[in-house]
Amino acid sequence: MEVSLGQKQKQHEFALVSMSQLTSSSSSSPCSPAIARFGIDSGTAQLQFLHEPESTEVINVDIGTTQLFKLGPVESVCITVDSETSSKKEFCDWNFSEVLSDVCLTTSFLLSQKSYSRGITIRFRTEDESKAFHCAFEQWKNEVIGGSAGECLENGSLLTSRSKFDNKIEAASAKMYFHYYGQLLHQQNMLQDYVRTGTYCAAVIENRADFIGRVVVDVGAGSGILSLFAAQAGAKHVYAVEASEMAEYARRLIAGNPSLAQRITVVKGKVEEVELPEKADILISEPMGTLLVNERMLESYVIARDRFLVPKGKMFPTMGRIHMAPFSDEYLYVEVANKALFWQQHNYYGVDLTPLYGPAFQGYFSQPVVDAFDPRLLVAPATFHTIDFTSIKEEDLYEIDIPLSFIASVGTRVHGLACWFDVLFNGSTVQRWLTTAPGAPTTHWYQLRCVLSQPMYVMAGQEITGRLHMVAHNAQSYTMYLTMSAKMWGAGAEQGGILQTSSCKLDLKEPYYRMSQPQAYAWSQDQQPHQLVHAQDVVGPGLTPPSQNSAAPLNR
Ligand code: SAH
Repeated sequence: MEVSLGQKQKQHEFALVSMSQLTSSSSSSPCSPAIARFGIDSGTAQLQFLHEPESTEVINVDIGTTQLFKLGPVESVCITVDSETSSKKEFCDWNFSEVLSDVCLTTSFLLSQKSYSRGITIRFRTEDESKAFHCAFEQWKNEVIGGSAGECLENGSLLTSRSKFDNKIEAASAKMYFHYYGQLLHQQNMLQDYVRTGTYCAAVIENRADFIGRVVVDVGAGSGILSLFAAQAGAKHVYAVEASEMAEYARRLIAGNPSLAQRITVVKGKVEEVELPEKADILISEPMGTLLVNERMLESYVIARDRFLVPKGKMFPTMGRIHMAPFSDEYLYVEVANKALFWQQHNYYGVDLTPLYGPAFQGYFSQPVVDAFDPRLLVAPATFHTIDFTSIKEEDLYEIDIPLSFIASVGTRVHGLACWFDVLFNGSTVQRWLTTAPGAPTTHWYQLRCVLSQPMYVMAGQEITGRLHMVAHNAQSYTMYLTMSAKMWGAGAEQGGILQTSSCKLDLKEPYYRMSQPQAYAWSQDQQPHQLVHAQDVVGPGLTPPSQNSAAPLNR
């Protein structure tokens, strides 16, 4: 599908050590650090140069009429036509020979063809950054303007193919999402989850052999922390790809760690859209949302694999598992059900609210509950669904269908399905799991529970079957369809019939964050304690509990 470039959110940034404009008096304007930014302005593909991210002093050049030349390993010059003011005379006033000694042949060819009015010399921090910029420039020129994906309409606006990301994600959702990650407070919340960050650090450092001398791509680099870990572990070069404004902070953080900075290049843009100058031997990423799949960033991780990773390259993490088990929690059930009681009022300032009681009740049960619960609330051993990041197709994540089958360990009332996830770093030296299991050190993901509006009674030994069907939506999350059934038990079991079924539809994007509330799992609850989480599920790094300062709507 194609759209007008004016609607496209695509942007791509590079840090420059210096940028200076050539002037007609053969001298240059003062050199100072700057940013080069590819983007769309009024339907035209533009390259902007600015000294500060928020600067109002912007030099805009039209990529379509601009030529880029390398002057040296880290230095280049952009020469562009200014259609309003250009003239041969003006051009001839310039002393290009000073600047273009390395490209004089090309230039003299161009001299005979066109008039130029503006020259901008730019210097990159590293040769790799210079290469990446040239690569991006070519991509914008070819794909956006002249290439097969680009097309010029009669009204002068440009068409281009949208990236995979733009095709499936609503622009409003993406805007809010990247705005959220552009803020340091949310990156801090993730960094302060010491279980998470500590496990990543250990997984990388203990598996140095997978990083030493290797090219790494950090998929969704955020603050750049994983890129810094990879560089600490001896990576030859790390490309830190980040789509949000956090990319600029990552540049600053990385620059402030000079022993590592030479080997890290921050590339601002979506992994679906940016071009990198070389393939990666290993990808590193933290693409996990609530229940592993929320935010649909696993798809970006898989796209990055297909775009950047060498065949048989490594992925950190390598695979993930969604774990599920039925739970019993009378308090939680009553709490959720009671939220709708407000709508039972017959006389709310003289208004009868009860017509909306039903929808309100259903609404509360459509919110998955996010909190840390006691694993003794589980009523059967958990099962899991594996997602192998190294082999899964992106499209396979659009719909995830998990059949459920459990044997109840106790007789109790089942209030729904409890879920959590873990991921494996399958290093050559050490295999490390990062788990979010109940009972393991708490992470900022906590656990997730789907509460049934109609609980079910089960007896010890009774089979609980069902299905968790998750369908991705364009707001970067999933609609969840849960069905749980209690099978015939005892003498009736052979007939295989269903005694009771309960279903619900939930939106993973709209959870009820309950973790700020006091946890009340005293033994006063009318149920037996049972320990049903396997030892492997609680293999954690044993680090200190994470910060619980998360008011984070994304809960990553
Ligand atoms: N790697 C960092 C941040 C993880 S949060 C850390 O571990 O602390 C995920 C980050 O990925 C966010 O900063 C988000 O903006 C970025 N991101 C999500 N989807 C992306 C995409 N398609 N392309 C580039 N960055 C993306």
